[in-house]
Amino acid sequence: MSFKNSFDIASLGSEALQRLFGETTSYVQNVKIEVIGNRKACRSREEHPATTVGLTVQRPVIQIADWLTKGQRIEAIAHEAAHLLLVYRSGLGVVGRRIPRHGDSEDVFRFFMSMRGDWVYLLGQISNTAHHLILIGFLKQEYGIEDDLHTSLLHQNFCVAANDNPKDKESQYGMGLVAFEYERLIGKINEAINVDHQSEFFWEAYHLAQKHFGGYGFQSVPAPLSYREDILSFLEALGYQREDFIFFP
Ligand SMILES: [Zn+2]
Repeated sequence: MSFKNSFDIASLGSEALQRLFGETTSYVQNVKIEVIGNRKACRSREEHPATTVGLTVQRPVIQIADWLTKGQRIEAIAHEAAHLLLVYRSGLGVVGRRIPRHGDSEDVFRFFMSMRGDWVYLLGQISNTAHHLILIGFLKQEYGIEDDLHTSLLHQNFCVAANDNPKDKESQYGMGLVAFEYERLIGKINEAINVDHQSEFFWEAYHLAQKHFGGYGFQSVPAPLSYREDILSFLEALGYQREDFIFFP
């Protein structure tokens, strides 16, 4: 195994993080950590200083922004490692869109017609929110790591996104999920955003998220099958067809 290009987490001096990382790599090998300069934000004004790529091909790379402080790097890497544990140990994978069945013109038509929406945002947010309800408590209780970075970014990005007024349905559904997560992890959403300005799509996803993921928490991790069912029935309740989605890895 070569770690030539990988960030050395021992340099952060956190015994808890090293234990967590060791546990993570016992479920998925060759997890790389990279420090990235000038990380491009995936949505205009939101900040995402840490992410994991390569999940779907079983070669996870945790990327963290170079401007994070030492304490924030510990939190960011721990946060991403906890996502990986949920995927590889608990079987709570990420949801994606199935490419259309070859030769099925109806299928292909539906796929391309719906491509205008921000699918990456909505689907990414579903697994993210479901994971976050579990992993914030997990990091605190099992490793004594308070994920202040996540909560401050959640607050900041929620305020920004809620004032963006996206046109597409998928973005507004995604926002509704973020609002639900905000309420579970931080507090009342009306202290962060103007609730009167949110669309019916926003509220629809917000209420459905409560219904489908409201029971999730550190002490109540769903079984892989019920997790998938919760996500598919959430998407179905939003008006999508469950056959259009698949889970990774
Ligand atoms: Zn996360």
